[in-house]
Amino acid sequence: MNERASRASDGARRVPVPILMYHQITPSPAPQFRKYAVTTEAFDRQLEWLAAHGYAPVSMEMLYRHRSGVDGLPPRPVILTFDDGYRDCLEHAAPILAARKFRATFYVLGRLAGKTSRWLIEERGLEIPLLDWDAVRALQAAGHECGSHGMSHPHLTRLDPAACRDELLSSRHILEDQLGREIRHLAYPFGDYDERVRAIAAESGYRTACSVRLGWSAPDDDLLALHRIHVHGEGSLRDFADNFRRRRTPRELWRAATRALRRRLGPRG
Ligand SMILES: [Zn+2]
Repeated sequence: MNERASRASDGARRVPVPILMYHQITPSPAPQFRKYAVTTEAFDRQLEWLAAHGYAPVSMEMLYRHRSGVDGLPPRPVILTFDDGYRDCLEHAAPILAARKFRATFYVLGRLAGKTSRWLIEERGLEIPLLDWDAVRALQAAGHECGSHGMSHPHLTRLDPAACRDELLSSRHILEDQLGREIRHLAYPFGDYDERVRAIAAESGYRTACSVRLGWSAPDDDLLALHRIHVHGEGSLRDFADNFRRRRTPRELWRAATRALRRRLGPRG
């Protein structure tokens, strides 16, 4: 147990935790990926805001141990997660994380490392380069946590059980071979899961799995379908800070998102 966690262990009372979901950090987002691409400048301001408000980054492993009643967490914990493993994570996110002394969790794809985000061609008409294994190892060496995002980014609920098992179990094995470390954390591609996928994730040895159900992760959140907060690429710093006012219900998050959209569209006559 590290010093901060032991200081805060107070009987390991389970606390709500905001798990932020990022995808790409880049100085120049592609227009069709704007919702998922946070600029380097905005990301730096968000980390500055978190640090100024006393938020301490923790890992999924720390959350798992906390929710299992083993360890406490520092006051004001926050988890930063990055889905898909874009190459920009090493180039643009990692230097800002290091400068602000933050650590994050990167979910990468077993079969697509060093390739491109092929699934986005049909969905959004673009491809973005992905981290290769050396780059993923560099993130791990910098103190970040790596987890699985499956093999090839399919909708898991549309696969038969054998193919789903291959996505979840094979990706864990490939990551373990490449990183020399046990892989225990997963993020479902597209946040797509159901009871069957959840059961296969458990059988495949994952301790946590992130969904894209929106909101803070409550103390009784399902460890294999964790809630997250989508950091919208077009949101302002105020929109970002709004996520931390208190735990909000999905309905409140939806209202805030539509308000932010109205602000961006400007007054309409
Ligand atoms: Zn993804």
